[in-house]
Amino acid sequence: MFKKGSKLYSILRGVCPKCHSESMYLNKNPYMLQDTLKIHDHCSHFKTKYRLEPSFFYGSMYVSYGVGIAFAVAAFVISYLFLDTSLNVSFIAIVLTLIVFGPIIMRLSRNIWINIFMKYDENLAK
Ligand SMILES: [Zn+2]
Repeated sequence: MFKKGSKLYSILRGVCPKCHSESMYLNKNPYMLQDTLKIHDHCSHFKTKYRLEPSFFYGSMYVSYGVGIAFAVAAFVISYLFLDTSLNVSFIAIVLTLIVFGPIIMRLSRNIWINIFMKYDENLAK
């Protein structure tokens, strides 16, 4: 499921959605905040353009809403149900989770967004 060639591989690792052989991002570490959203113009292997049109990645905001909700629900379930904290503490846990995982949420959203429009090409990867 997480092998090269699956969309999950590209989404979780942030690699080129067509060939899966290199990272789309200038800096692999999402917590280098000045580089979190900096992306190469195209893949160095096959010149796959990452921005299909100007402002292409604005659409990933829709995805980031869903991804953020998933992280928030996970934080709530862990803090409220498993750790048995109060609602106020659970709320703080949700806010902290969204702040701490913000860069990861942004990147995951972009990876999901670009993988909606492009798919792995076996012939390119060979
Ligand atoms: Zn590529």
